[in-house]
Amino acid sequence: MSTKTDLANKTIWEQDKDHYIHPWTDFSTFQNEGSMIMSKSKGIYVYDSEGKQYIDGIGGLWCVNIGYGNTEMTEAIANQVDKLPYYLNFGAHTTPPAATLAAKLSTLTPATLNKIFFGTGGSMSNDTAIRIIHHYFNRLGQHTKKKIISRTDSYHGSTYLAMSMTGITFNHQGFDIDKELVHHISAPNTYRRPIDMTEHEFCDEKVNELETKIVELGPENVACFIAEPIMGAGGVIVPPNGYHKRTQEICQKYNVLYISDEVITGFGRLGHFFSSEPTFDIVPDVITCAKGISSGYLPLSATILSEQIYDVISVPQNKGELFTHGFTYSGHPVSCAAGLKNIEIMEKHKICEHVQNIGPYFEKQLKTLYDHPIVGDVRGSHFMMCIECVDDKETKSTFPEHIDIGKIIASHCQNNGLFVRPIRNKVVLSPPLILTKDNIDSIVSILHLSFKKTMDDLSKEGIYIN
Ligand code: PLP
Repeated sequence: MSTKTDLANKTIWEQDKDHYIHPWTDFSTFQNEGSMIMSKSKGIYVYDSEGKQYIDGIGGLWCVNIGYGNTEMTEAIANQVDKLPYYLNFGAHTTPPAATLAAKLSTLTPATLNKIFFGTGGSMSNDTAIRIIHHYFNRLGQHTKKKIISRTDSYHGSTYLAMSMTGITFNHQGFDIDKELVHHISAPNTYRRPIDMTEHEFCDEKVNELETKIVELGPENVACFIAEPIMGAGGVIVPPNGYHKRTQEICQKYNVLYISDEVITGFGRLGHFFSSEPTFDIVPDVITCAKGISSGYLPLSATILSEQIYDVISVPQNKGELFTHGFTYSGHPVSCAAGLKNIEIMEKHKICEHVQNIGPYFEKQLKTLYDHPIVGDVRGSHFMMCIECVDDKETKSTFPEHIDIGKIIASHCQNNGLFVRPIRNKVVLSPPLILTKDNIDSIVSILHLSFKKTMDDLSKEGIYIN
């Protein structure tokens, strides 16, 4: 029997399929299957249009840090919409939320990073960082310092420049990137290091690679190095101990600025508002952040500059000269009000401390998945985790191309009420930070069940016999 709701859902499904160009979509399957309609949410749960409940193991997209349906957040957003939904904030004007949030953020960042530029997403925060760094070196008369060094398997966004910096080659297929400006070195993926190499030797190799690249390009041509503290979309790659500190020392040796892309790692995911200093012992020249800054309730990002960079770019060289960078929605008052409330909620409910306390339990429970023959590596930190599948634990060989193992596992998880993010042979988890121990136990038991079902599928197909 078809109800009004069924008809409404069918209409939405058709409108979506016929007109909405979704990001990151395989149109060959989308044109037949369309999208699953998500209708509501609460806490760690989201619900589809048929009312089925799922634990959101992805936290929206690494972003819904305080969880869904937080009524304090709803009120803060509504109040600001009511008071002043928008006003331009080029230099002559500001709004209380933008000013207050900038000041608040400067208390959460490492000591010298006190100057905040707002945008509306992670890609924009990284593009902004590069434009400002180029401007900075121009100001210093170092006009050739333009090149950017990034890493294979990094993800920095989807605008032209951010995608050029992105090092996941799969993401470049059929599109162009700027190979003149951006140069990649390899990722510090310890799981995939040569079998006879210690982690320390591997770290030496990666640090040397950065130095060699700077020298090869000419330090006078290299503006900056950009790195995620832990690589996210590339498969939650945790660098060896000391990697960030040592790469930053190399950067300093050659006057190359260091950008820490904290779009995922910021705002509690690793147990701190920013991870660069407390977890990785570095004070970068620039930190970029987005996602968790507003827990995904509204689009917001920040490019956070050191005082030293600001001192150079804030002195006009000619009378009337402007800082010609900015967007209509830079410092949007409603987004900034959401950002402020997000920090207030995180502080009030001690969310960073919660992640520090419960993160190790999440890691430990996920490691029980090693019992499954196809689990090669369980890695990550706190609420940023990944399970890498292999068809042979010894050789770490991956499944043949036609077996999309991540998708198979994710679809079993979904059938059992859990969303995880498949990335080819990996399954990634980045849940809301309010997860309890009981929630973790539910997630892990669904994962065990889903891995078992996946093994059954593989043996039925004669693909995996152990
Ligand atoms: N940087 C990192 C580390 C990311 O993970 C992402 C998105 O996932 C971005 C930048 C781009 O952010 P956005 O999609 O908001 O532009």
